[in-house]
Amino acid sequence: MAKSSTTSYRCSFCGKPDSQVTRLIAGNNGVAICDDCVKICNEILENEIKDKNSDISEEIPKPKKIYEVLEQYVIGQVEAKKILSVAVYNHYKRIGQKKRKEDVELQKSNILMIGPTGSGKTLLAQTLAKILNVPLAIVDANALTEAGYVGEDVEDILLALIQSANGDIAKAERGIIYIDEIDKIARKQSSTRDISGEGVQQALLKILEGTNVNVPIPSGVHQQMQEMVSINTKNILFICGGAFNNLDKVIEKRTKGSKMGFGADISSKDNKDVGKLLKEVMPDDLLQDGLIPEFVGRLPIVVTLNPLDENALIDILTKPKNALIKQYQKLMEMDNAKLVFEDEALRMIAREAIQRNTGARGLRSILERIMRNVMFEIPSLEGGTICTITKEDVLFNQEPTLKIDSKIKAKK
Ligand code: ADP
Repeated sequence: MAKSSTTSYRCSFCGKPDSQVTRLIAGNNGVAICDDCVKICNEILENEIKDKNSDISEEIPKPKKIYEVLEQYVIGQVEAKKILSVAVYNHYKRIGQKKRKEDVELQKSNILMIGPTGSGKTLLAQTLAKILNVPLAIVDANALTEAGYVGEDVEDILLALIQSANGDIAKAERGIIYIDEIDKIARKQSSTRDISGEGVQQALLKILEGTNVNVPIPSGVHQQMQEMVSINTKNILFICGGAFNNLDKVIEKRTKGSKMGFGADISSKDNKDVGKLLKEVMPDDLLQDGLIPEFVGRLPIVVTLNPLDENALIDILTKPKNALIKQYQKLMEMDNAKLVFEDEALRMIAREAIQRNTGARGLRSILERIMRNVMFEIPSLEGGTICTITKEDVLFNQEPTLKIDSKIKAKK
């Protein structure tokens, strides 16, 4: 057991007597260490940890492993999950590459995800960041403007990432930035003063490529006081996502244009057709949708997501690790209630979500509506309860019936 210094001790490392140091900590066998040497040891250990972390190429899970974890959280979107697993693996392998002069330079490959609202774009980015244990910032392109206009600066994106890394710049420099609604910064041909279109794309170009940016960070008690920190974006992975609602029509026109003739109806496609068409996307199609060529060029990996059909939505309700139904069942279980959804009830919920046209995003609010009163009543009931949600409850907005069940034991 360590004991504090006495006059007879010297530091066993630097040899200084206790009269020349602030603190001397003695061990059992006549050895001692002074506070200065403790500090030096700490620095050595910290640097070792940093070096170990910087060599992350050894720790990156292989594409198949990344895919396996994505499978636990993201339903469907098989091809997107595969492409992303390989893309992020390569990205982090590139960062971990120990450079020699003669080495081939591995170029940065940012990602563009194209898919309807609520199809899992943000969820994929979130899950990837979790798997790789890197900080993630999710920003909305709608809020971005060129410096000088009201709104968020492009630098604010980097601030969000630094904050997600708890101020650790080295960590932030290896993080992921997900820019949502990227299609909303498309160039608007008709607009005379194009505030959030081409200008924002131009502003994003540099950070997408890799550059040093000085980011003002609010510091101390007074938010007005700012500290400048420098961050390099070379190793930050940018994933841009957007619905590009017009893109299927652009692709269809390109691929079938000449065969269509007058009166051909290109608006009555079902989800499967839209998914198939999006897979054929070419850079030129994106230009037609208002992105500038340099911007498209910096997003060389294009991933398309399918619109979710009824079965996929039912799976989303029930299968992922933290599926919504499992979450409600857990909540109810804590109040001694068993929550059962009839298969047809799940189908009706999926159908309603499709009608709302918001993909899986709508599922939560539909469930909240169904469960509102149940969650109000059940905690006050004595003993166990079974709550079964039927097709009619969903269709006609009925109150689900609650049955007392003595077999369900109250949990302490
Ligand atoms: P997007 O970014 O494509 O608009 P999100 O990823 O934000 O959609 O999804 C919205 C919600 O729907 C999230 O809560 C997510 O959990 C769920 N969700 C969407 N797509 C899927 C999917 N393919 N698998 C599992 N859950 C999904």
